[in-house]
Amino acid sequence: MPVSRTLGSITVTALTDSEGAFFQPRTQAFPHATAAQWAEADRRDPASVTADGQWWLTFRSFAVRSGDGPVTLIDAGIGPADAPAASWAPVPGRLPAELAAAGIDPADVDTVVLTHLHSDHIGWAVTGAPGRPYFPNADYLVQRAELDAAQSINPGLPAGLIAPLRAAGQLRVVDGATTLTPAVRLLPTPGHTPGHQSVLVSSVDDRMLLTGDLLVHMVQLVDPDLAYAHEEDQAP
Ligand SMILES: [Zn+2]
Repeated sequence: MPVSRTLGSITVTALTDSEGAFFQPRTQAFPHATAAQWAEADRRDPASVTADGQWWLTFRSFAVRSGDGPVTLIDAGIGPADAPAASWAPVPGRLPAELAAAGIDPADVDTVVLTHLHSDHIGWAVTGAPGRPYFPNADYLVQRAELDAAQSINPGLPAGLIAPLRAAGQLRVVDGATTLTPAVRLLPTPGHTPGHQSVLVSSVDDRMLLTGDLLVHMVQLVDPDLAYAHEEDQAP
């Protein structure tokens, strides 16, 4: 079942598209983390490690909604069985069922924020053949720096994702910090990819940052200077 948190009148719902063991030993993903740092990360987030010490990874999207208004969806998961992430991630994802369980119809989504264009964040953005936007009423928001780097991030992106969104008139390219509503703001957080963005949700008393792959593992909160091997710019 999806898990929700409220900030004032805003509900943020975590939707699990899929989960599975990471494709390589976690000590290769964070080659500089010490045994003590792993132990502390596992204490804080026991669900992210298996009994035999593998990284158990949850692939999530987040739905942000004020009352029963339109939905802003952050990231689009690993996608269906034939999605680009199928080469390494545990497809098919179950985002459609998670959305339904949260009472969200794809047509309710008026904004899809893609934090970045890695294959495990765009899976449900465009589906079918020929590809069509899965969320028929949504603008899809991507940072210009990410779009400019798309070919190097994933050579199949221009044809498989960008062209169908453009053809449907649903691609919205943004430059830097962007205010969507008084409560929802896009913040550039480059490093993992050149145009990675995070989403800051604010209410009177609370703030929540939806970080995409700016943070992928608790060990990065144990020591924020730890480099992640799959980061394009690994300097802290
Ligand atoms: Zn990524």
